[in-house]
Amino acid sequence: MRKGILYVVSGPSGAGKGTVIKEFLPRHPDWFYSISATTRAPRPGEENGVHYYFMEKEEFLRLRENDGFLESAEFCGNHYGTPKAAVMERLEAGKDVLLEIEVQGAMQVMESYPEGIFIFIVPPTMEELRHRLEGRKTEEPSVVEKRLERAKEELRLADKYTYIVVNDSADRAAEEIEAIALAEEGRSARKFDFVKENLL
Ligand code: ADP
Ligand code: 5GP
Repeated sequence: MRKGILYVVSGPSGAGKGTVIKEFLPRHPDWFYSISATTRAPRPGEENGVHYYFMEKEEFLRLRENDGFLESAEFCGNHYGTPKAAVMERLEAGKDVLLEIEVQGAMQVMESYPEGIFIFIVPPTMEELRHRLEGRKTEEPSVVEKRLERAKEELRLADKYTYIVVNDSADRAAEEIEAIALAEEGRSARKFDFVKENLL
């Protein structure tokens, strides 16, 4: 049985990662979407265990100390991390896994799991990025500024990724991810087992 494929979706805050994934995931109910841990306070409507595992800093740091995260990063004053065991178990069981994480974390996964597929989502323009971050109304203006400054640094690393998807229309961006997933399925390194088992 083939191992699952690890897809890592990353990109500046406000680029539309969450929106595009919401379009894309329902088409792949068999994929495992990894729920991250964070020390950030829940936004209105966010539920523990659905959007994030919300935790105190002490608990987060203890987990990190005990090698509980595949990757973790501090982002604009809060900690975020991918619980490791759940992801590795799914991959071993042949399930495809999707992570939505920021850039430092994605870089760590590139080191530790280079066979992953790394997708960088970008906004069509920086004005549109500001507009989206302000329009989301989930952060204070000072936090919006911090996230925009951070975005510039993150964009410089876009060429480290396997793919770049411009999120102009969310539909179109979800289709591009669909196309990426289809193409990855067909890579001979993955499909040769099919040839051996069924045709030779
Ligand atoms: P991220 O998860 O990357 O931080 P979100 O998915 O929360 O970004 O999107 C940020 C804001 O931009 C949200 O208010 C969302 O509705 C909006 N948005 C996302 N994608 C698009 C798009 N293609 N066109 C217009 N607005 C978008
Ligand atoms: P937000 O506070 O807007 O939910 O997330 C802020 C940033 O943290 C986003 O870019 C999001 O992709 C990222 N993020 C969410 N979960 C994780 C995680 O487990 N690890 C890392 N490194 N980043 C994460």
